[in-house]
Amino acid sequence: MALSRTEITGIEGGRLGMFLIPDEVTRGIEDYRRALGEYLDGRIPKAPAEKEELSEVGINSPFVDEPADNDERYRHFLTYNVKEQKQKGYMIVKVRIPGGDLSADQAEALAGLEEDFTGVEFRTTQNQNICICHIKRDELRRLFNSLDKIFDYFLFPETVLDTVACKGALTCNLGLCNSPGLARAIEGELSQAELTGKEVFDGLDIKINGCPNSCGQHPVGSIALHGVVRRVERKPVPFYKIFLGGRKRGENSRLAEEVGVIPARSVPLFIKDFLNKLESAASEEPPTVGVDQILREKGRVIALDILNDYSHVPPYREAPEYYRDWGSTEDFSLEGVSKGECGAGIIDMIESDLTEAEIALKEAEKEGFNAILIRRSVFLAQRALLVVRGCDPETEEEAFRIFRKEFFDSGIADPLYSWLEDHLNEIGEKIPHDIKEEAFSLGKAFLIHIKRLYKQMDSSFNFRRRMKTGKGLERKNQSSRMLQDKRGEDESVKSTEIQSRTNKKAFEQPRLLDLKGTPCPLNYAKAKVFIETLNPGDLLEILLDDGEPIRNVPRSLENDGYNILRKEKRGKYYSLLIKV
Ligand code: SF4
Repeated sequence: MALSRTEITGIEGGRLGMFLIPDEVTRGIEDYRRALGEYLDGRIPKAPAEKEELSEVGINSPFVDEPADNDERYRHFLTYNVKEQKQKGYMIVKVRIPGGDLSADQAEALAGLEEDFTGVEFRTTQNQNICICHIKRDELRRLFNSLDKIFDYFLFPETVLDTVACKGALTCNLGLCNSPGLARAIEGELSQAELTGKEVFDGLDIKINGCPNSCGQHPVGSIALHGVVRRVERKPVPFYKIFLGGRKRGENSRLAEEVGVIPARSVPLFIKDFLNKLESAASEEPPTVGVDQILREKGRVIALDILNDYSHVPPYREAPEYYRDWGSTEDFSLEGVSKGECGAGIIDMIESDLTEAEIALKEAEKEGFNAILIRRSVFLAQRALLVVRGCDPETEEEAFRIFRKEFFDSGIADPLYSWLEDHLNEIGEKIPHDIKEEAFSLGKAFLIHIKRLYKQMDSSFNFRRRMKTGKGLERKNQSSRMLQDKRGEDESVKSTEIQSRTNKKAFEQPRLLDLKGTPCPLNYAKAKVFIETLNPGDLLEILLDDGEPIRNVPRSLENDGYNILRKEKRGKYYSLLIKV
């Protein structure tokens, strides 16, 4: 691998050869190749030393410099960074590279060690660190001093401090959250709490991804996280899903299990509390029980207990930092996220509302079937699905009205729930407890129904139409339901007539969809719903705002297979012409 003078980031497993060529000798790829050839001439790296080729000198020496009592850093170095090599008398030294980011100066200084330590070899590790091989025992102190000059932080590789994080939203087009920013925040919190260097945590690691993909290896992390987006106060907020108990150990490997979601801002404190409680749990067990076993057996209960304290997001005016990602001073947004980004944003909005709906129901139960909270839960459940219709209702009345049209009248949702609105409107705080309890049960059943519909939704946000109505609920309002069904049929006939008339026009001129003023990802959802009403080959002109909408929506539509025929700036907005 040849590198120009630049930051080396995201080092993955494998061998690393570093060739650094000053900027001033390169002007384009041809110059670069020529300069690299000249540089390499006579410097071709030697093949790795085999056991018999390694010098015998010094291999039987004890550590020349035993650490003094107050030399804690060197002691940590010997404990955590140094391992015996297979070849007798030689050591492997692991250098922790926080976030896997090695600057050009550090890389150059590291490569320079080859001159001071004969026969050393550098390797990268899957934990984004560097191994220095073939170090003799009596060279360890000298190497420690050299590394100390090159790096601010290189102790404690492969401990809880050594978080593995992908590049996340920092540079990755698919990244939702800034995972390296979170890794630094966790490291700061754990260092301050003096939770590093504790034997009890040996074998635990933390792995973070900026999105549900696995570049940062979260499925095999003992404590693992991946970025998601939730909506609070109609604003996107960076969150992480938490997983526990993953392990990468040959045939004893195990996938981490999901435990819950938490705002990005609360993750470092959550992890600090979690480790403290894990340490207390370990102190109650015999020394033969390892932390891995405790994590597997008690981790989930401990985590769920702490999550209650950290899952809340305060209002924006009280704590705007919750609405910003780690390492950023601006409010969080999905701007710049690439292919499929709109779809990912919509899924996150749905899941966010469903989670909130569940929380509202739990609160309602705790407060003696509080009617306001039951209605809130029903509102959130409806809003969760309405987002795929491009709607973001603000009031309960609006949500009921649109949900009726989009989901009951269209035959997607079970019409038995269509009288829920009337029923909920009747209940107040002064009505008997058993009636409130009945309303609570209905709210709960409705949420289960909505979750079922969500599970059946396909990748184009379409739902199955119902063949039969559900069973088990009291059949009230039959006549009104029939009237509604009838109205649905009439509307459907009317809309088909209008559709066929307008479709004829579609061959002559594009249909127009004005999405100016509609934020992401609702604009994408609205475009998808509108496209459903068109015929293959129809032309559609979509008007979109500048910024996030014009960057995200065309990419998502292209990703769905539509042809973008034209993109044109018109004053403060854009016109997009697509072929359906
Ligand atoms: S896990 Fe997601 S955010 Fe991280 S590098 Fe991979 S695709 Fe990008």
